[in-house]
Amino acid sequence: MRRLLRVVRDVIVVAILFTVSRLSLAADADILIRNARVVDGTGSPWFLSDVAVTDGRISAMGRNLNVDAASTIDAGGRVLAPGFIDVHTHVESGTSREGLIDLPRADNFLLDGVTTIITGNCGGSEIDVAAYANSLAGLGINVATLIGHNSVRREVVGLDDRAPTNDEMTLMKAIVDKAMRDGAVGLSTGLLYVPGTYAETSEVVELAKVAAGYGGVYATHMREQGAMLHESVTEAVTIGREANLPVQISHLKVKGRTRWGTIGSVIELIESFRREGVDVVVDAYPYERASTNLGVNLPRWAVAGSVADIAGRIEDLETNQRIVAGMKDMLEDGGYPDYSFATVARFVPNESYNGLTITEINKLREGSPDIDGEITTILDMMVEGGQAGVSQGASMIYHYMSEQDVDTIFRYPNAAVASDGGVINYGSGNPHPRSYGTNARILANYVRARNVMTLEDAVRRMTSLPARTFSFHDRGIVRPGFVADLVLFDPDRVQDKATFENPHQYTEGFDYVVVNGELAVAGGKPTDLRAGAFVKGSGAL
Ligand SMILES: [Zn+2]
Repeated sequence: MRRLLRVVRDVIVVAILFTVSRLSLAADADILIRNARVVDGTGSPWFLSDVAVTDGRISAMGRNLNVDAASTIDAGGRVLAPGFIDVHTHVESGTSREGLIDLPRADNFLLDGVTTIITGNCGGSEIDVAAYANSLAGLGINVATLIGHNSVRREVVGLDDRAPTNDEMTLMKAIVDKAMRDGAVGLSTGLLYVPGTYAETSEVVELAKVAAGYGGVYATHMREQGAMLHESVTEAVTIGREANLPVQISHLKVKGRTRWGTIGSVIELIESFRREGVDVVVDAYPYERASTNLGVNLPRWAVAGSVADIAGRIEDLETNQRIVAGMKDMLEDGGYPDYSFATVARFVPNESYNGLTITEINKLREGSPDIDGEITTILDMMVEGGQAGVSQGASMIYHYMSEQDVDTIFRYPNAAVASDGGVINYGSGNPHPRSYGTNARILANYVRARNVMTLEDAVRRMTSLPARTFSFHDRGIVRPGFVADLVLFDPDRVQDKATFENPHQYTEGFDYVVVNGELAVAGGKPTDLRAGAFVKGSGAL
């Protein structure tokens, strides 16, 4: 009898515990997404599941979850993916552009499904990472930053074409060390740009070693992306190998009509280094046009120093002739008959140039209607646009690449999707459409319309692949315990709208975006919950 009572008591206890656990589950979930086709970010085939979100993390997954939540969304078979991680952005505020401090909700990214960005790319970053992190408030998305070699060198050595002294090298290393301790995710370079272009490989190795000590990545806008592309890849890999850190080759491309169709040989070179044990991957954006400054058309030696230094060279007859000769060589090397491949995105001294090609601007300015006239126009704009090392004359869009090469890059499994974009003040200037539509363009054009890659593979390139390179160990996969950065969309409907002619158009079709467990976008509109945060590197103190 006693024994029977004990059994009855145990059964009651178990029943109570079971009920309590069910009740506590019911009380806990903040968001429940039902009937989703989960594309989990790993590249695995989609599967049907409900997903519960509690306290910022994915708390449960499975079919017919018995969970009550504060808000329930019926996915109705739409795709639920990890929020996209965009490893290549530029969101520092500048003289000619707004940054994340000015536009912290970052609507253009949020509405393109992006929940985390990495800024400080191409060698340009804030130097004081702690102060930058503290200055960010009301973020709509998560942000991490690299420490930029150009910014550090500019601070310590200036814009001159020379090697740093030993003391300057020590100071540069100290700045990188503090940035890494304050949460930077790695070192970036822009070896095409002033003043990073004046650095020897060994200088970058020394700084990369500092970043490596904190688990950082080496992300590089390589020294050259045309005639010297293979050498530039080898330099990037050498830095990664000698400093012992992973290499992210930024916005992989092959520049110039004369080299179109040859990107496959670069990918082979990258794979040969991977076989040797170097961790090197790439990212790219799904457009044939690039965006950078006007100064890239000049020989590197001609753009050293201050605006006055550059203007002095342009105004000196003999030096001017050397600059012109160098520019003609570069034009011929790329296979371009004139500068009609170069469009002004933003020219601060004369905003009426925005959207016009150099050829058109030359006509407008009544320059001689030939290469010499166009070169004179560029050099005049370099002087008028000023701000060497920041804007280098004007921000520009260049038709550098071929669709075939871009497709080849996106057939390469180790290519992540990254926009190279910034936060955009809606309606301002004539920006590259990549800031609005990169991820939707991959899903609409490269997956749905042309089948260059599968949906699962596209999502992997936007999520777990970048998360793995930048050591975001709890983001980029839809899995219990991971941070609840999520995006819900209909793969038949998601569509980028921004074009080169009419760039200021938000992407359509990312119906819900969850950032750190909060609904940042609902019904395709930002909710203004602003749950974004500054994300520190894995080795930060
Ligand atoms: Zn770049």
